[in-house]
Amino acid sequence: MITFKDLDLSNPLINAIDDLGFTNPTFIQKDAFPVVRSGKDVVGIAQTGTGKTFAYILPILRDLKFSKQQNPRVMVLVPTRELVLQVVEEFEKLSKYMSLRVLGVYGGVNLNRHKQAVAEGCDIIVATPGRLYDLGLSRVLKLKSIQKLVIDEVDVMLDLGFRFQILNIFDLLPQRRQNIMFSATMTDDVEALIDEFFIAPHKISIAVSGTPLDNIKQVCYDIPNFYTKVNLLNKLLFDKEEFSKVLIFAPNKRNADRLFEALKEEFPAQLCVIHSNKTQNYRIRSIEQFNRGDKRILIATDVIARGLDLQEITHVINFDTPNFPENYMHRIGRTGRAEHEGKSILFSTEKEQEAKKRIEELMNYTIPKLEIPDDVQISKQLTEEERPKEEVANKNRTSKEYVPGPAFHEKKDKNKKTNQGGSYRREIAKKYKKPKTRSPKNTSKKNKKR
Ligand code: AMP
Repeated sequence: MITFKDLDLSNPLINAIDDLGFTNPTFIQKDAFPVVRSGKDVVGIAQTGTGKTFAYILPILRDLKFSKQQNPRVMVLVPTRELVLQVVEEFEKLSKYMSLRVLGVYGGVNLNRHKQAVAEGCDIIVATPGRLYDLGLSRVLKLKSIQKLVIDEVDVMLDLGFRFQILNIFDLLPQRRQNIMFSATMTDDVEALIDEFFIAPHKISIAVSGTPLDNIKQVCYDIPNFYTKVNLLNKLLFDKEEFSKVLIFAPNKRNADRLFEALKEEFPAQLCVIHSNKTQNYRIRSIEQFNRGDKRILIATDVIARGLDLQEITHVINFDTPNFPENYMHRIGRTGRAEHEGKSILFSTEKEQEAKKRIEELMNYTIPKLEIPDDVQISKQLTEEERPKEEVANKNRTSKEYVPGPAFHEKKDKNKKTNQGGSYRREIAKKYKKPKTRSPKNTSKKNKKR
């Protein structure tokens, strides 16, 4: 087994690791170390608990030379204040024997205090996007010296609506820099961000086990569209005995809300929905009601469901087919815990067949297919996304249409380079690219609250 000694670490790092009592690097640490050091753009897919924070801190510290320079050379963006504190702490632990200045900044604290701290100089700045941008705009924080940008928990970041903030920050950074990104799940939004701003990134991921638990029974249905899926779901959920605790995954907030509205008619008192636009209190209340059994159906998006302690779920329903097979594995793992048998149902439209095929390839298992029962009505009603493109484009044209900001400048030629390594994800992302639904105004309002 590989030890930290095999990693070509510097003495100060070896000593700091010794103090922590760690002997072996985790998988992601071992894999990320040479890649981050190479200076290439890096995308790491790993969840909390895999050692992902040290996976980027170690190689960064390995090559960061002592400097008296005032302006930071490394910037780490994270979604929450708690994570800022945590990441700063991790940097401090590992740089114990180095002469290094790490600064953490986040919203909700007097801006002048942070301006003063920035003015004192730092090598590494760890920040939430809103506060970082405010400091950048104020010109106290000079970002042209940033050589490495790390975006951690990027899926959460995008789900919380930080996309515009991130793009604005990109505008303040030098073009020549290394981008390092960590995400627990791949989502269309994450993929789109990578495609747009990363140059031939090297991808490292903790292989998700493609072997589902034996006690999860999987079935699937091929269904033509959203509202026929609703009709089938209505029929299935009618069986309260069988479907006594159901977690339904929807691909995004919009569809989660749409599904909630559609199911509300039949099951008004048994249904709750959680996604990142719902308030913290609402989410906590919904989860408690679901766990207590007061509500038997919970609709959730992938990112929000992560880490939730939901007990004894009888069925996971994949209302959509995830584009990324790993997400399917995460989803169905929410049922069949302990000795309980779990059931998973997958709904796929024609367009989602490719995604289903990839899930089956990962598991090396063909999910048994059930036919739509005769009494389920095939709906002709289409959602906006399902309607032919031109029709939607005409309907959407309003005077309030979003006008791209400076972050949407045409890419320079060198940045148009993409890794043409046959990534199916890119094709899928292109195919399913969603209309931009958030205005920058909403985004900033929301972030101010944070
Ligand atoms: P993370 O996935 O970065 O949130 O890290 C999860 C926890 O694992 C943190 O408390 C780290 O201090 C700890 N950790 C990180 N790397 C190692 C390692 N190589 N050996 C043991 N523990 C580690």
